[in-house]
Amino acid sequence: MIAQPKASHFVNGDWMEDTDGAVIEVIYPATGAVIATLHEATPAVIDAALAGAKAAQGAWAAKKPVERGRILRRAADLIRERGDALARLETLDTGKPLQETLVADWPSGADALEYFGGLAPTVTGETIPLGGDFAYTLREALGVCVGIGAWNYPSQIACWKSAPALAMGNAMVFKPSEVTPLGALELAAIFIEAGLPAGLFNVVQGRGAVGASLVTDARVDKVSLTGSVPTGRKVYAAAAEGIRNVTMELGGKSPLIIFNDADLDSAVGAAMMANFYSAGQVCSNGTRVFVQKGIKAAFLAQLKLRAEKIVLGDPMDMATQMGPLVSAVQVDKVMSYVNGAVTQGAQLVTGGGRDGMFVQPTVFSDVTDDMVLACEEVFGPVMAVLDFVDEDEVVTRANDTDFGLAAGVFTADLARAHRVIGALQAGTCWINTYNLTPVEMPFGGSKLSGVGRENGKAALEYYSQIKSVYVGMGPVDAPY
Ligand code: NAD
Repeated sequence: MIAQPKASHFVNGDWMEDTDGAVIEVIYPATGAVIATLHEATPAVIDAALAGAKAAQGAWAAKKPVERGRILRRAADLIRERGDALARLETLDTGKPLQETLVADWPSGADALEYFGGLAPTVTGETIPLGGDFAYTLREALGVCVGIGAWNYPSQIACWKSAPALAMGNAMVFKPSEVTPLGALELAAIFIEAGLPAGLFNVVQGRGAVGASLVTDARVDKVSLTGSVPTGRKVYAAAAEGIRNVTMELGGKSPLIIFNDADLDSAVGAAMMANFYSAGQVCSNGTRVFVQKGIKAAFLAQLKLRAEKIVLGDPMDMATQMGPLVSAVQVDKVMSYVNGAVTQGAQLVTGGGRDGMFVQPTVFSDVTDDMVLACEEVFGPVMAVLDFVDEDEVVTRANDTDFGLAAGVFTADLARAHRVIGALQAGTCWINTYNLTPVEMPFGGSKLSGVGRENGKAALEYYSQIKSVYVGMGPVDAPY
């Protein structure tokens, strides 16, 4: 299978190649086959992308918001028309099963383009009465935004960042993860087809150094990163040098708390969705599943039965429910956590094995707070089940982490559900469900998990700035 794009980059409205850049081989994780060979962006490519973005942004910001929105909504329609082909490309890029990429990845990206396209014309300022004088505010674009993506939802991330950025009149230079570089190029071509003027959405390929050179360029006004906490620290610090705006969507170790009175079938289903979807490679996963002692045995029994029925295999087969992990590096990392958990005394309920690039859906019970498995982000299909006795105890333990991306609670007691969510330190929470991220709902983390929000009306604030205008209506009263 080959998925070679026309060129490595998409700059200023067209494909661009520079074979002087170091080679990036794109590997289909399910077979190990090289499906495309790209080159990292050279300084010349990076400069062309930033220059193109800078040149195009002013006229774009000056357009009526309704015109900008129309183009974004047309791009959403094109994505939906080509849903099947785009999902197959996403599966090749990531190894995720087609039954997921058909419904989750690009469709969620299309939702973002449709939503922010519709929202753009609704953004208004305020008027502030000041006696005879008054003031008003305008919400203006920031300018040139850099987007840097992770490999787990590559096309969704490209859409989630570009949709609010473009809606507010910004231009974007996007660098996908070097592990999954293909989807963003398709998005760039779709934008042009939808009528987006050249230069407003550029894609440049490369590893961390390419991202780093984008972040510190004087032409850049904002940086939005989706990635790990260590990368977030570096990018945030580099952006600070130029006092640039940032959005940081980083990692997590989120708690999912299941009380004795929870609906057992739903709680087990949610815990599985919170750990096994996309083979566990989801930032907001509920990887610390706290189960109240009264239902522990029933929970684990049903979980084991259902986890062992998960169908692993060829991602292109619609019957396949779990594909390989994205890379050999990731498999090794996940297996070291599995082996470490066994050594530290966690009980293996099911799974624990690997077959090439595939890792079995794995559940550990009797995990304690100090085990590495309960503290570090694994990013694989590995669920840690911890016991708890009462509400105060579980809230304290759930918050005892530097991360704060997401949290969930399952209980039939509504007052308790809201009380517990109120006490949890996390940016994105669910009650009696898990991991649903509709575009209408702001998404993001607190503590080390991030700064800023994607999606929802909140995202617009992170891609715009307020200009305040004081209007003097009478003579100036000067003391001089
Ligand atoms: P990563 O941090 O290794 O890389 C993320 C991106 O940053 C890549 O494009 C990489 O090339 C780039 N990069 C690396 N060093 C850089 C530097 N110094 N300057 C600029 N760019 C640099 O993350 P990953 O392994 O690709 O993705 C997995 C991580 O992403 C996990 O921690 C996961 O939790 C997180 N994630 C978070 C969210 C969220 O919305 N909160 C969503 C998806 C993934």
